Amino acid sequence: MMRAAFILLALLIVAPTPAAAAKLKVVSSFSLLADMCRVIGGDRIELTNLVPPGTDAHGYQPRPADARAVAQADIVVMNGLGFEGWIERLLRAGSFPGVLVVASEGVRLLEHDGDAGHHGHEHGEARTEDATTTDPHAWQDLRNGHIYARNIALAFARADEPNAAYYLQRLETFLSRIDALDSRFRREFAEIPPDARRIVTSHDAFGYLARAYGLEFLAPVGLSSSARPSAAQVAALIRQLRAQRAAALFVESLSDPRLIERIQAETGTHIGGTLYADSLTGADGEAASYLAMMTHNLEALARALRR
Ligand SMILES: [Zn+2]
Repeated sequence: MMRAAFILLALLIVAPTPAAAAKLKVVSSFSLLADMCRVIGGDRIELTNLVPPGTDAHGYQPRPADARAVAQADIVVMNGLGFEGWIERLLRAGSFPGVLVVASEGVRLLEHDGDAGHHGHEHGEARTEDATTTDPHAWQDLRNGHIYARNIALAFARADEPNAAYYLQRLETFLSRIDALDSRFRREFAEIPPDARRIVTSHDAFGYLARAYGLEFLAPVGLSSSARPSAAQVAALIRQLRAQRAAALFVESLSDPRLIERIQAETGTHIGGTLYADSLTGADGEAASYLAMMTHNLEALARALRR
């Protein structure tokens, strides 16, 4: 009875201030976290996302409106691991008084050496010529996505106790979907022989995905990411695909259908299309949510490797 009386008293004191009734003001650093915040926060939060879908989050230039949003936020959700180098200034500049959630806190880290997942090793061998840095793309492993979602929901529940049950209920639903997707693809990739899980891609963001699902990602030889490849570059790529017996190729700079046909004919390699790394698509795109993005990436990879 004492406790109930105390809570009632606390509510009476808090209730008249308008802030207590207002929605939790949340700022997310980029589109993938925005989706997780929406899934967990539902209609109890007011969300502002900083880096819009389709924009590079690594090199983002914050706008004055971003600083204002951060200064007024109850909670800022960021990835961490050096992904949003630009956000530190924003947090300092606005003297952000709220709760900072580093969504990746607690994930098993992957050192980035440009050759992650090579031959299925858990950790890339330390390289003397290259200082290793931590790979920030931890969300590409669904088990890490599970940790992200938990971190976000627990922060919401602590900051907005009257709605804690609401956030935790939505977390449970979200986690069961993340876990189901993870189990499904662990099963699917396990059925593919380990030496047939080799993929050539110009993306450098799939180290966690490779580790999680036992895939091997190799960088393409001789291709620059932007320019149209020359005949010599295509010849080098074909030699590489044959020598390394890669099962699939995901390279965005290769959009010429005749080139794709030639590479497929000469190497038997499947050209797999687009993998989404750092950003969701808009609402009508094929990676409009975290779960849609992971489903798209893993389905595209599994389809390519099963051929
Ligand atoms: Zn990236």
